[in-house]
Amino acid sequence: MRPTVLCFSGLDPSGGAGLQADIEAVGQSGAHAAIACTALTVQNSQQVFGFEATSKELLLAQANAVVIDLPINCVKSGMLGTTDNIAALAAFLREHSDYRYVLDPVLVANSGGSLGDQATLVQAFAELIPLATIITPNTVELRALTGEEDLQQATDKLFAMGAHAVLVKGGHEDTPDFIRNSLYIDGELVSTTECPRLEGEYHGSGCSLASFIAGRLAQGDSLKAAVQHAETWLFGVLQRADSPVENGQKIPKRF
Ligand code: PLP
Repeated sequence: MRPTVLCFSGLDPSGGAGLQADIEAVGQSGAHAAIACTALTVQNSQQVFGFEATSKELLLAQANAVVIDLPINCVKSGMLGTTDNIAALAAFLREHSDYRYVLDPVLVANSGGSLGDQATLVQAFAELIPLATIITPNTVELRALTGEEDLQQATDKLFAMGAHAVLVKGGHEDTPDFIRNSLYIDGELVSTTECPRLEGEYHGSGCSLASFIAGRLAQGDSLKAAVQHAETWLFGVLQRADSPVENGQKIPKRF
């Protein structure tokens, strides 16, 4: 049986983001994905129309059912939807402190739609930050989590909040020709990568990257190697993405 990543993620009916992104990315990394579904969203490639979150009891029941019969050694979380679900995941992680954990601090969809109440989610994420092996915020999420506008100060603050490693994703920064990601471990910058900025918007790029990292960590990669593998893989996936409608976001072609 392949090493298994347990993904806490929401269903996106477009198949671009959320649990489908996680299943495909973890699978492409060589690991197996198990899912504890946090929410059912209603959305397409253009817009989020709403969502209904899973209760914390049902969420934990899903997770506890699979931990006893799958070789899980890594957890990845994306959309969690409610502060109750965040607290439930924190309790689950404390019970399984040997697992590696990739925290993708999802607050809003790339299309701008709400995936939960941002102010309360930000507060609740503070409990997950010290439990994560790596946190993968884009710069909007990094600023929201820390309340700091300056990126270096925001990164420093995230480490002061207990982070162990942070991959700062630069896709939302005003760099028209390239995207720069920076990996920090224990507060130190250990690598910076740049790739050409591809045209258009992509649905589920963050989910895909974080899940591929989790899949590689599950198979024993170091943090630096997992991130490098994931970035190289994601660039190819986005280059060959499908465009469903003119104004919609592109759907990554993960295999
Ligand atoms: N999880 C779910 C269920 C979503 O619907 C979305 C975005 O729509 C995300 C996560 C975050 O997606 P992205 O990888 O585009 O940030």
